[in-house]
Amino acid sequence: MRPFLFSKSTAANQALAKKKSNTQFIAGGTNLVDLMKKHIANPDSLVDISSALPNKAEKTAKGLSIGAMMRNSATATDPNVLAKFPLVAKAILAGASPQIRNMASAGGNLLQRTRCPYFYDVTTPCNKRQPGSGCSAIGGENRMSAIVGYSEQCIAVHPSDLCVALAALDATVKVMDQSGKMQNIAFKDFHRLPDQHPERDNNLPAGALIHSIELADNNFAKHCSYVKVRDRDSYAFALISVAAALNLTGNRIVDARLASGGVAHKPWRWLAAEQFLKGKEANAANFEAAASIAIKGLKPQTHNAFKIPMLKGAIETALQQCLNP
Ligand SMILES: Cc1cc2nc3c(=O)[nH]c(=O)nc-3n(C[C@H](O)[C@H](O)[C@H](O)COP(=O)(O)OP(=O)(O)OC[C@H]3O[C@@H](n4cnc5c(N)ncnc54)[C@H](O)[C@@H]3O)c2cc1C
Ligand code: SF4
Repeated sequence: MRPFLFSKSTAANQALAKKKSNTQFIAGGTNLVDLMKKHIANPDSLVDISSALPNKAEKTAKGLSIGAMMRNSATATDPNVLAKFPLVAKAILAGASPQIRNMASAGGNLLQRTRCPYFYDVTTPCNKRQPGSGCSAIGGENRMSAIVGYSEQCIAVHPSDLCVALAALDATVKVMDQSGKMQNIAFKDFHRLPDQHPERDNNLPAGALIHSIELADNNFAKHCSYVKVRDRDSYAFALISVAAALNLTGNRIVDARLASGGVAHKPWRWLAAEQFLKGKEANAANFEAAASIAIKGLKPQTHNAFKIPMLKGAIETALQQCLNP
């Protein structure tokens, strides 16, 4: 690792004031330290924000606010999260390992970088790591890569589980910009598709802090599930994941949410399938039809056509599990 300066801030404004062009905030460090060891991130200085931001979940007039520094393990066991937004807990518990979840923060989880193997191998071209150098995954090892929303510049996927649940629940990201002003970013607009600039993962303003994640009350708590298909049962990122949530009156679907990880550069909502489910009976035939709508038109890479039937099965399973959560 290169030498770097390290300081700790105890207030958000203090941390923002220290942010210079080659400074990085560090929260749990579970992604950033790995990136530094591999010389993918090379900051001159680190500002520890672990005591500078909220670290618990608090009820708000509209729902719940999850502090950016709340550790993933604390979020997954928080009584308000479990009562109001169990989908968030299910998604977190499907990710990483207990030790990593003890360190990983909510804010850091949103900003973790892709797990594309070429992004971590500095001897290979990668447009995300080094803009303009090329994409080694196109025509290379692309088993984990995207099947929707990718570009000729990058076919990587976003690795988070938590973010898939937050996308399904239409969360809002509350950010504090460089001048200390708060602004809200709808979760659907927080992460980016690669287009011509895969080096940019998200729309967080330069130098800003994620302050908290806001969730509005909803009627999905009773019927939700998170299905993650991966190579190992622990310590493995999703090949495909599905967050599903149903608002039911009797057996009729009033509203539905379906989002996936492992398919795109950002957590992906299956809006046409959601629309199809509204007003329908909650049964296997309608779940199968919704999954068929979701997979229509997806375009796999050379090594991941298997993801399409896998996704269809995962959507059907997740919807079925919503009936018996
Ligand atoms: C072996 C392994 C397996 C894993 N498996 C999974 C998995 O299955 N599913 C999953 O979802 N995740 C998984 N993870 C990723 C893990 O969840 C993330 O690394 C973690 O959530 C990042 O949080 P952190 O607080 O450690 O972030 P850090 O590493 O501290 O920071 C990550 C980035 O976010 C920035 N940052 C952090 N907080 C803020 C903030 N509040 N405002 C502005 N910038 C900020 C940092 O500057 C840095 O750029 C795994 C990680 C490892 C090492
Ligand atoms: S898919 Fe994206 S992250 Fe992977 S090699 Fe290509 S440009 Fe880099």
